[in-house]
Formats: sequence, structure tokens, C-alpha cells
Amino acid sequence: MKQIKLILMALCCVSFIASAQKPTVYVLATGGTIAGEGKTEVNSAYTSGAITVDELLSAVPEINDIATIKGEQVANIGSQDMNDEVWLKLSKRVNELLKKSDVHAIVITHGTDTQEETAYFLNLTVKSDKPVILVGSMRPSTAISADGPRNIYNAVACAVDKSSKGKGVMVVMDDRILGADDLSKTNTLSVGTFQNPNFGELGIVYNGKPVYSREPMKRHTSKSEFDVSHLDKLPRVEIILSYSNATDLFVNAAVNAGVKGIVTAGVGNGNLTTVMQNALAAAVKNGVAVVRSSRIATGPTAQWDEIDDDKLGFSASWFVNPYRARVLLMLALTKTNNYKEIQRMFTEY
Ligand code: GLU
Repeated sequence: MKQIKLILMALCCVSFIASAQKPTVYVLATGGTIAGEGKTEVNSAYTSGAITVDELLSAVPEINDIATIKGEQVANIGSQDMNDEVWLKLSKRVNELLKKSDVHAIVITHGTDTQEETAYFLNLTVKSDKPVILVGSMRPSTAISADGPRNIYNAVACAVDKSSKGKGVMVVMDDRILGADDLSKTNTLSVGTFQNPNFGELGIVYNGKPVYSREPMKRHTSKSEFDVSHLDKLPRVEIILSYSNATDLFVNAAVNAGVKGIVTAGVGNGNLTTVMQNALAAAVKNGVAVVRSSRIATGPTAQWDEIDDDKLGFSASWFVNPYRARVLLMLALTKTNNYKEIQRMFTEY
């Protein structure tokens, strides 16, 4: 009997030491398809954000072999409903956790619809070089070949690997590692939906290990100038699309609603109909910051082309697409509404 007790105690010690040696990774859940429940295993109809973080994690017991996992439910929504309140809560919680010496990394489960916006927001507001990885899935947890469990395993595997430090916020899906600096959802249904269309992906996950092939070139995380730690709301910025015959209707509506900034998704190199451009120039005179971006999926919205940004007081977004440009402009407006200073930020981030 005494011997059995001793063996049991020894086993407990071994498992305690083993778990103490494993890096601690917090999984913060926000909802999305990865936490979605379908009507059947083959039907495309499903409800986002239906299962909890504990249920999500129980589908991937293998992550417990490589990390000590702690799950937290931050929200449980389809990411089409992602909002400033959850962003601020998430950013503050990530910063709080990463300050602790015993926390190695953060994995955030998130719907894919607005994942590029949340990843970029965190890329600009997290003050740490420790890995922060967003992960989602395109198929609900109840589907045949659900992609969520593999994506979660890969995300945790990247989070615990030392080569993942200092790379800014990343998204791990479909065995690929994408940078938040150039993230786009490019396909409405495909499991390989995310791309870095201008800069190329950061790397791949191979046999449960990250293999990186590029560094992010833009300012991020610990080198970012943005600090939301004392904020409980963000300046309102709207996105307005341009197209043939586009009028000044939405620009005027936005200005009348009191927005602080407008991002345009222009045609070509961020071009605008003359009537829309004139309305935007008037908006600038009323103190609204205007950033030109483009509805085109790749290439920069560059200065010094058909539009004289300096004359009109506009800034050009360069490689930041309209959805991420809205995020950067919101953060820029927490510091300044000077178009030259905003232009600097769009060339650096
Ligand atoms: N609407 C869902 C979301 O973004 C669908 C996209 C997904 O998670 O794959 O939460």
C-alpha cells in the first residue's frame, strides 16, 4: 500500500514538472464559424458562435501535449458583429496577459469575416513581442472535415515556437502563416481564404512546426505608437465606395452624422468621381480626415498620381486596404487629424 502511494506521488510530481515546463498559452475565444454549429454535417447552414471555448478546445486534446492551455471566453459572436468595444476589451486583456512572465503567447479564435480588421487592430495596439495568433475556420465544428481543430493545433504550435516572436500579430489557417500587415479574406467559402496578396505569406506550418520565409516589414506591436489602454471608445470612421456615377450622397451623410474620418474605396489607384472628390475636399475643410484607398485587391493606392492629395488635404493608404485603413485611421485620429502626419502613418504601418 505504502509503495503504491509512493508511486502515485512520484507520478504526480512528474506530471507537475512536465506541465510546469510546458509554455502557457491563453486561448481567447470570440466566436465565429470555428465555434459554429451546423444543422447537419454536410449542410452549409449554421450558427456562428454557438459553442464555448472549452468545447472548442476539447476537440483538439493534442494541444495539451505542447502547451499548458488556459481558455477564456471574451465574446461569442459572428465576426460580422465585431465592434470597438470587443476590440478594446481584447487588446487590453492581451496586453495584461502578455505582461506576465509566465504567459508565453496568445491564440485568439475569431470569425473569418472581419478577422483582417481585428488582426490589424491588435497588430497596432499590442505592446509585446510575444506571439499573438488569430485562428478561425471556414467550416463549422460539426462539419465533415471541419478545419477548426487542425487550425487550432497549428496556431498553438506556432504560438509555442520561439521563431514566432517579434513577427507581429499573425493568422494561422490552412497550414499557412499570414501577417496582419497585408491580410485579406479573398474567397467567401474556401478553407484557404486568407492571403497576403501584396507581400506574400510569412510562412507555412509543416509537420506541426512553423517554417517562416519572410519578416513583416511594417511597424507593429512593441514598435507601434498607438496606445488604447486608457480609451473606452474610438473615433468614428466610415468607408465609402466609389463606382461609375457615384454621387456625394454618402459623403454628405457621413459628414452630417459627425464622423471624424472617411476612408474611400476608390476605383483604380484610389480615384473618385469628381462630385465625390469635391464633397470629400469640402469634408476636409470641415475637419474630417480623408484617406484614399482602393477597391482593387492588390497594389498600392499611391500618392502623386491623378489626384493631388496635398492640394486637397487627403492621405493615400498605400498597401493598406480600405478595411484595415479604417482601423489605422481610427487609431491615427486618437493622436492627430493632420493629413501629413496621417500620411506618415500610412507609409509606416
Ligand atoms: N460570419 C462568420 C464569422 O465571421 C463566418 C465566417 C467564419 O467564421 O468563417 O464569424
